[in-house]
Amino acid sequence: ISYMAEQMRDQSLHPGQQQAVHATEGPFLILAGAGSGKTRVMTARTTHLISDLGVKPNQIMVVTFTTKAADEIRQRIARQLPAGQARELIAGTFHSIFYRMLLHHQPERWDQQRLLKKDWQKWRLMRETGALLGHDDLATLKETEITEALGIISRWKNEYILPHEVAYREATSDAEKRAIQLYPLYEATKKKHQWFDFDDMLIGCYEMLRDDPGLLRRYQERLTYVMVDEFQDINRIQYETVKLLAAPQNNLCVIGDDDQSIYGFRGSDPQYILGFTKDFPQASTFTLEVNYRSHSSIVSLGYSLIGHNRERWAKECQSFHREEGDTYLFEPEDEEEQASRIVDEIIHRREQGAILGECAILYRTNESARPILERLSEAGIPFHYTQEEESFYQRQTVRWTLNYLRLALNPDDTDALKEILSTLYISAEMWNALRSQAIIEDKPILHVLPHLTQLKPYQRKHMQQINEILTACKDVPPAQALELIYEDGKLRDYLKKRAKDREDGRERWSDELQQILAASKRHATISDFLAYIDQMTRQEKEWRTMRPLPDEAVHVLSIHRAKGLEYDHVFLPDLVEGALPHEYTLDELRKGGSGALEEERRLLYVAITRARHSLCIGIPRERFGRKTRTSRFIAEMGR
Ligand code: ATP
Ligand code: MG
Repeated sequence: ISYMAEQMRDQSLHPGQQQAVHATEGPFLILAGAGSGKTRVMTARTTHLISDLGVKPNQIMVVTFTTKAADEIRQRIARQLPAGQARELIAGTFHSIFYRMLLHHQPERWDQQRLLKKDWQKWRLMRETGALLGHDDLATLKETEITEALGIISRWKNEYILPHEVAYREATSDAEKRAIQLYPLYEATKKKHQWFDFDDMLIGCYEMLRDDPGLLRRYQERLTYVMVDEFQDINRIQYETVKLLAAPQNNLCVIGDDDQSIYGFRGSDPQYILGFTKDFPQASTFTLEVNYRSHSSIVSLGYSLIGHNRERWAKECQSFHREEGDTYLFEPEDEEEQASRIVDEIIHRREQGAILGECAILYRTNESARPILERLSEAGIPFHYTQEEESFYQRQTVRWTLNYLRLALNPDDTDALKEILSTLYISAEMWNALRSQAIIEDKPILHVLPHLTQLKPYQRKHMQQINEILTACKDVPPAQALELIYEDGKLRDYLKKRAKDREDGRERWSDELQQILAASKRHATISDFLAYIDQMTRQEKEWRTMRPLPDEAVHVLSIHRAKGLEYDHVFLPDLVEGALPHEYTLDELRKGGSGALEEERRLLYVAITRARHSLCIGIPRERFGRKTRTSRFIAEMGR
C-alpha cells in the first residue's frame, strides 16, 4: 500500500522534484524560482519521511515565515497522512516554534503578559527611561524618531549584535546615533520590569539552547530532520538557532528563492541562502526550472522586472502552462476610481465563474487597502482582511483631527474636548471645576473655558484660539474646516511630532492626514462627513470580526503576508512612485543607497508571482488629492 501511495504522490511530481524529495540525508539546498514547486517538494519530503521511512512526525521540524504559509503547509501535509499524525509535527513560524519552546522550559519568564507588543508601549518606556535618567533629549524625542531608532535596534537584535557591541560604533546617521544611545537603556529597562519584545523570543531561545548543553542535546537527539522554507528571509539569530538544532547529523534542508527576500527590515539577508554551501560544504544543491503556478505572460513579466536587480543569483523558470494568461494595466483618475474598477472587475469575473476565494488584492501599505475595502463592502462582496495595524480612524492623529470637527459641530461634545485638553495639561480638578461652571452658567464647557480663573495665561490664550478656530469652522465644508484646524499652532506642533522630516527640511504631512483631507472633500457638510466616519468605524469593527468561508471571500492582504501563497486572479493597486517603491525607499535612494530599491523590486516580484491566471495593475493618476508619477518598475517591465 505504501508503494502505491508513493506512486500516486510522485505522479504529480516532476523527476527533478522527485529526486529532491528522496534526498533526505545531510545538508541540502533547494534554490529555485517562484512557483517551481519548492514548497510542494518540502511537503512531499515530509510525508515521504513519515509514510515511507517511518520517521515519527515529532522528529521533524518544518519552519516557514508567515502564519498563513504555516497553516497552508500543515494542511497540505495533513491531507496526505493518516488522521491525527500531522498534529505531532513541529510546524510553524520561527516565532511560534521558538516561543513554544521558551514557554515550555521557562513559563514564568515568558508569560504573554510580559510581552511588549505595541510601538506606543515602547515609546512610553523610552520616554520614562529618558526622564528617569535625566536624558532630557530622550524625553523630548519625536515618536517617529523613537520608532526609527527602535527599528534599527530590532535589526541589530535580529543580527545578534548586542548593546555593548554598538557602544563605540561610529554612527552613520542621526537615527543610528539615537539608536546607539537608546539600545542599552531600552534593554536595561525591559530587563528591570521583566518585559520582553518579539525579538527577545528569538534571542532567548538561542541563548537557552546555547547555554544548556543537556537541553540542547535532548532536542538534537529528537529532531532528526529540519526543514526551512522561504530560507531567503532568515536572519542571523534564526539561522544560528537552526544550526544548533540540526547538529550533529545536519539533516538540514533549506529551500528558497533569493529573489523573494523581503524582510530586510527584520535583518533577513539573502546572503545566508547564497552562502549556505560555504557553511555546509558537503551540501547538495538543487534547482527547479519549471514554473507550475503561473501562465506564461505572468512568468515573463516577473523575470523582466527582477532582472534589473544586481545582487541576485540569476535563474529563470519556464512556464509549464501553454496559456498566455492575462496581464493588464489600467490608469484610473484616482484611488476611488481604482477601487471601483477593481471591484467591478471582480464582480465581472465572478459572473464568468471565478471563485471569490481565488481573487486577491495585494497592497504595499495599508493606505492602499482602505478605499478598496470600502467599495467591496458597499458592493456586498465578502472579504478576508486581517488587519495588521491599529484601526485607521482610531489612530491618534486621526482622532485628534476629528475631535476638532466634532467640537465645531457640537460644543457640548465633552469626550472630544477632554481628549484635546489632555495635551494642555488640564488637571482632573480643573476639569471638574469646568463642568460645574458649565452647568451653573448653562453653557457648553467649551464656552466657559476661556473664563476659568484657574487657567494659566498660555492655556487661556490657546483656548481662545481654539474657540476662534471652531467658530470659523462652523458653517464651512469639512475640507475647508480641516485647513483651518491645521492652522492651529498647538495641533500643528503635535502633528509635526508625528510627521517625518524630509531631507530638504520641509515637513511632510503624514499620509493619514492626506487621506482624511481627501475623504472630507467628498462631503458637503461637517455633519455628513462625521456620520460617514462613524459608519466606517463601525464597519471596520465588523470587517475585523468577519469570518467568511475561505472560498467565498476575496483576500485582501499585504504583499509581505502573501509570500508563498497563490491565487487565480491578483490585483495590485497603486503602482506609483512613493507607494511602490515606497517613499522611505526613495528617501534612501536620495541618500545614495540602492539596496532598499532592490528590496522593493523583490517585493513587486513576489506580488506578481502570486498570480496563476491573471494580474491586474492599477496606476492611479492622483492619490489622496496629489498628482502621482507612474512607478519606475512599470517601465522596467517594458510596459
Ligand atoms: P514560491 O516561491 O512562490 O513559494 P514554490 O516554489 O514554493 O513557490 P509551490 O507553491 O510549491 O511553489 O508550487 C506552485 C504551484 O505549482 C502549486 O500550486 C503546486 O501545487 C504546483 N505544482 C508544483 N509542482 C507541480 C507538478 N510537478 N505538477 C503540477 N503542479 C505542480
Ligand atoms: Mg513556496
